[in-house]
Amino acid sequence: MTHPYFELNDVDREFWAERLDPFLPEKIFDAHRHVMLPEHADPEPPTDKPTRFPDEIAGPESLGQAALGNSELFPGRSVSYLAFGSPSRTSHPQENNAYLSEGLIGTESAALALTPPTWDAEKLLAQLRQPRIIGIKPYQSLIPGFDGEDVSVFDFCPHEHLEVLDELGGWLTLHIPRKERLADPSNIAEILEIRRRYPRIVLVIAHLGRSYAGGYARKGFPLLAEDEGILFDTSAVLNPAVFALALDRFGPERLMFGSDQPIFYMRGRRRWEGDRYINLTSGNYSWNTEREPPEVEATYTLSLYESMAACIDTCWALGFGETELQAIFHDNARRLVDRLLVEKESW
Ligand SMILES: [Zn+2]
Repeated sequence: MTHPYFELNDVDREFWAERLDPFLPEKIFDAHRHVMLPEHADPEPPTDKPTRFPDEIAGPESLGQAALGNSELFPGRSVSYLAFGSPSRTSHPQENNAYLSEGLIGTESAALALTPPTWDAEKLLAQLRQPRIIGIKPYQSLIPGFDGEDVSVFDFCPHEHLEVLDELGGWLTLHIPRKERLADPSNIAEILEIRRRYPRIVLVIAHLGRSYAGGYARKGFPLLAEDEGILFDTSAVLNPAVFALALDRFGPERLMFGSDQPIFYMRGRRRWEGDRYINLTSGNYSWNTEREPPEVEATYTLSLYESMAACIDTCWALGFGETELQAIFHDNARRLVDRLLVEKESW
């Protein structure tokens, strides 16, 4: 069987052998990846908006394809993960959640439920009581008829849901809304409000608060540093400076590796200019207009590998080592997931 979205080449194999294999722990836990079947979303209606960058990289990835991808990307490693659907306006969250719940029985992995804000508390609870589901992944695109960024966290993750989750002590992976991300004081205030009002929730801020560019990290991280109950996944971050700030402000014990697969089967690097990040990639995507010469593009490896190497290199550069990499790439998430899998027996 071949994977639909990538094929390892010599550049990847060399990168793995030199930059990743010697540093990664025996077991890897991926705290942020998307898994779904094609039928878990209807085709998007035509729009005159430009395509978002992930759209052309990879379509849905099933549990079987995820397992295949992991075995090829991480030879000799055992990989478990926390999975959820790819939320969009056309998603069928209930079907996607049920697929993950059933499919992950008997594995070491777990899932979060996609939760449209229109669901009532009872419906939410029924989702959370399904096997292997330990929490929720709300998202702004699950607001019916909404197609923007400028919303409150509580518009797509309502208090009614947070109350249920707090009572259970469940997991919330939170995608920060609003264009200015962690530089927007409303986002900071809402994260702190969740911590104050719902202290039993395991709160994980996705993508280091979407701090792909350094400015968001520089402005936002100090405001979230004090509360040790605010955790982060590293998915989709390739920026070594952002890893450095996160390691310094939060410490390795509050960070968990996340892949954001299947998007990071993309091949390439990133460059940062102010608050903007530029995906340099060899993929023939319609948005891919800032190309490098072919001989440079030929040296690109998978973006996921670049993201992991940025984390590893920064850890070593700051004087951290094996212990911290073991924590970030496995133990921090594994410990919490295991705790919730036990606790959920009484949900
Ligand atoms: Zn994601």
